[in-house]
Amino acid sequence: MPKQLCTCGNNRKNNESCNNCSQYKMVFLLRDKQSPFKIRGTAGKEVNPAFWSFLKEDKRPRSVIIKNMVSRAKRMPQWNASNYLMIYERNGNLIEKVHIC
Ligand SMILES: [Zn+2]
Repeated sequence: MPKQLCTCGNNRKNNESCNNCSQYKMVFLLRDKQSPFKIRGTAGKEVNPAFWSFLKEDKRPRSVIIKNMVSRAKRMPQWNASNYLMIYERNGNLIEKVHIC
């Protein structure tokens, strides 16, 4: 039985991502303020969509994780609706800003 990497109580599987436990977060900066890809944030405001790295990959070298996140982002419908993809560490430090268009 592999060690469960999500320890916050969300009970995410290791092949999933967790908004508390994953090491990296990516945010699409959508071009259109009225974009259908906006999501409802905690305060009820529309915010840019965010996705987290997969827990099972979190121990891999940062460069590998970032590369995998960017290629995953390119296959998502949000990619063509965005100007930038921002990648953050869990503590909020911006580590990569990918120009899309
Ligand atoms: Zn968790």
